[in-house]
Amino acid sequence: MGRTNTQQVSDLIAREKKTCLDLFSTAEAQGFGDIHFKSDPANQLQAIIAIHSTKLGPAAGGCRFRHYATTDAAIEDALRLARGMSYKAALAGLKSGGGKAVLILPDKLRDREALFESFGDFIESLGGRYLTAVDSGTSPLDMDIVARRTKHVLGASKSSGGTGDPSPTTARGVRMGIEAAVRHLLNRDSLEDIHVAIQGLGHVGYPLARELHAQGARLSVTDTHADHVQRCVDEFNARPITLEAIYSVECDVFAPCALGAVVNDATIKRFNTRIIAGAANNQLEYERHGNLLHERQILYVPDYVINSGGLIHVLLNNPSECESRLSHMTETLAEMFEQADQSGIPPFRQAAIMAENILGR
Ligand code: NAD
Repeated sequence: MGRTNTQQVSDLIAREKKTCLDLFSTAEAQGFGDIHFKSDPANQLQAIIAIHSTKLGPAAGGCRFRHYATTDAAIEDALRLARGMSYKAALAGLKSGGGKAVLILPDKLRDREALFESFGDFIESLGGRYLTAVDSGTSPLDMDIVARRTKHVLGASKSSGGTGDPSPTTARGVRMGIEAAVRHLLNRDSLEDIHVAIQGLGHVGYPLARELHAQGARLSVTDTHADHVQRCVDEFNARPITLEAIYSVECDVFAPCALGAVVNDATIKRFNTRIIAGAANNQLEYERHGNLLHERQILYVPDYVINSGGLIHVLLNNPSECESRLSHMTETLAEMFEQADQSGIPPFRQAAIMAENILGR
């Protein structure tokens, strides 16, 4: 082997070693021991199931179906989201662990049904340690397909005996979480005349707008779909805002209900709000952005606490039990804000401490 070839091989080994070490050290740092991969080329399935914790019960968490630039990015997404699910279940007082499935969306999907049946087989092979549900890119109808191959599915459609769309319960929880934050920071017992800027008016954002409007809040809204915006303008007298301008709207609450990583280097200087509280998962691009919000005295309500309504809905499937869990969530938030104030740390760090304590780590 020539010198160049030898160099290339050692570079390759170094690169591969780095990837493996990154995976294992990332997994270890986040407390994982259990990550499963499945490749079924005949049905275009490339799936990752990350199980963060089963201490409180089977690991529940949605199934994300989208494009990823690299497999590493997909793995990282699964790990981050699964840990969030453990924390979410623990802080909501649910007997559930945390997990997440990530399915890599192929460039040309041939047969959606075959792919989701194959995913069902994958879940079944884990013997009930992971329970799947709807997440970005999947719907209750996909869960119906998965349910043909495994019973470990939450949130199948109502017509097939499932719990149906959890989004209205998520929206209700977000509204209650906003009330808890407003009470704590602004010392106000009602949302009357509180100005909320909502980014994303889909399954959660739209019912959230309805809930807030019913409580007397003023709304500024944006969405990539003009008809989603118009509906809120017509029904709730909301002020339409352009996609970029939403970050700098002067408001009491910014509610991200579309995308993750909206608190990042580009947006952090632009926020003109007192509180950030919304449904989107992984709102902080990196943890340091949570610290920066704290320095700017913007109260960031941890996403996995305030958006726990969806998980509560699919696990309990009972309106009065859901209501009592949501009330428990707002009490947890009040306690978290108090403890964070006393110790001088940001509430998102306090939330992680409280969750880790429940998980006994
Ligand atoms: P959705 O796809 O129904 O709605 C998202 C909305 O955001 C759509 O109307 C879309 O047009 C809009 N949007 C997309 N990109 C945008 C952009 N750049 N700027 C403004 N608007 C944009 O999704 P959803 O079910 O409403 O969930 C919203 C967020 O909440 C997601 O991050 C999801 O992971 C999270 N979440 C949802 C639930 C639930 O019960 N649905 C539970 C927990 C967390």
